[in-house]
Amino acid sequence: MYDYSGLTPQQITEVGWLQIVHPDDREENIIQWKHSVGSGEPFLFEHRFRRKDGEYRWQLSRAIPQKDAKDNIQMWVGTSTDIDDIKKHDQQKDDFIKMASHELKTPVTTIKGYIQLLLKMNSHGKDPFLSASLQTIDKQIYKLTKLITDLLDVTKIETGSLQLNKERFFIGDTIKEIAEELETTVQTHKIKVQLHANPAVYADKDRIAQVIVNLFTNAIKYSPKAGEIIVSLNTIGDNLLISVKDFGIGISKEDQARVFERFYRAAGKDEKTFPGFGIGLFIVNEILALHNGKIWVESEKDKGSVFYVSLPVNH
Ligand code: ADP
Repeated sequence: MYDYSGLTPQQITEVGWLQIVHPDDREENIIQWKHSVGSGEPFLFEHRFRRKDGEYRWQLSRAIPQKDAKDNIQMWVGTSTDIDDIKKHDQQKDDFIKMASHELKTPVTTIKGYIQLLLKMNSHGKDPFLSASLQTIDKQIYKLTKLITDLLDVTKIETGSLQLNKERFFIGDTIKEIAEELETTVQTHKIKVQLHANPAVYADKDRIAQVIVNLFTNAIKYSPKAGEIIVSLNTIGDNLLISVKDFGIGISKEDQARVFERFYRAAGKDEKTFPGFGIGLFIVNEILALHNGKIWVESEKDKGSVFYVSLPVNH
C-alpha cells in the first residue's frame, strides 16, 4: 500500500486509508465497511484507489474478520487486488457489443424488407426454386434479427435504459395466442395450455410476451426427442404463477444456478449441439426483475425441466 500510494506509514496513520479512495466511491465504501464491522460479515467491495502518479485504478477489496474462541472479532485481514485492466477489457467488450449490434441492425432490416417484397412478388410460385430460396433466406434473417435485438437488449439492460410500457391485459390470452402461433410454425411439438386463471395484469405486454416466447422456444429447442410442452397459469394470492414444462435434456444442479447469467450456457456434450449464445434467460430474468417478478427452474437431467415465473398481478 505504501508503494502503491506513495504515502508514508505516518501519513496513512494520521489521515487514514480512505484518503486514497476515489471521492465518488468513499460514501458507499464507508457504508459497506460499517456494515461489515457491525455485523461481522466479510467485506467485499470494488473501488478506485489513487496511485502515487495520481491515476485512480479499480481495486477489488476483501476483508475477513479474525475471531477469538468467544467469537469476538480480534482484527480484520484484507486484500486489495488491482482489477483495472479486467474492468477496462469488460467495458471494451460491452462497447463493442453495443456498436456491433447497432451497426448490424440497419443492413439486416433493409435485407428483411426486400426479402418480404420479393416473397410477395413471387407469391404465385412461378419459380419454385426461387420461392424455396427466399423462404430459407427469410427464416435465417429472422434468426439474425432475433440475435441482434437480443444483443441490443443486453446493452439496454447494462446501461439501465430498458424501459417498460405498461398496460392492462389478460395474460392467459397472451399465453394462448403465443402457443397457437408457435405450434403452426414449429411442427415438432404440441403446446398444451392449462389456464387455471386468466387475470388482467398491469405489465409491459411485449416484454412479457418476449419472456413467454423465450421459455417456449427453449423448451422446444432442448427437447428434440419429446413432442409436448405443458404451460400452466395459476394465481396464488397477489401473484400469478406460470410454469413451462418440457421433457427434454434437463439441466444439472450446478447449471440450474447459473443459466440466468449473461452468456452462460450449460457445458454438457448434449448442449453443444444446440445453437445459441446464452443471453435469452439473462434477458428474461432482467425483464421479470423490472416487473418485481421472479424466475426459477426445477429440473432433472434427461427427464426435463420446469421453468416457473411469478409476477405480481397488480403492480
Ligand atoms: P441459449 O439457449 O441461447 O444458449 P439461454 O439463455 O436461453 O441461451 O439458456 C441458457 C442455457 O440454459 C442454455 O444454453 C441451456 O444450456 C440451458 N437451458 C435453457 N432452457 C433449457 C431447457 N428448457 N432445457 C434444458 N436446458 C435449458
